Amino acid sequence: MSTVDLPTPIVVTRHQCPHCQRYTRARRDRVEQHMPRCWQNPAARACKTCVNYEPADQEGPYPEHPGWPEGCGHEDGPDELKQPITDCPHWELHPRLAARD
Ligand SMILES: [Zn+2]
Repeated sequence: MSTVDLPTPIVVTRHQCPHCQRYTRARRDRVEQHMPRCWQNPAARACKTCVNYEPADQEGPYPEHPGWPEGCGHEDGPDELKQPITDCPHWELHPRLAARD
């Protein structure tokens, strides 16, 4: 009797964040820990679901100028988003997300 010398496919279960769909882990509790601070989760009141969020722009004012970093358009918001902000007091749901449940 001989053994077949080929890689064996296996099927694994992973858990995925339903908001960003990028964060996946084998352990469900790891994803549950991620979800409250997920930038794409409206309940986290974070920048990327906010009407004030201004995405980064690769185009500067002239060709040699670096692009603009992402920012906040709220008058009392930070000038520059150096790190993710969650639970923001200025957060307001972006209209593109309002149609969802
Ligand atoms: Zn996520």
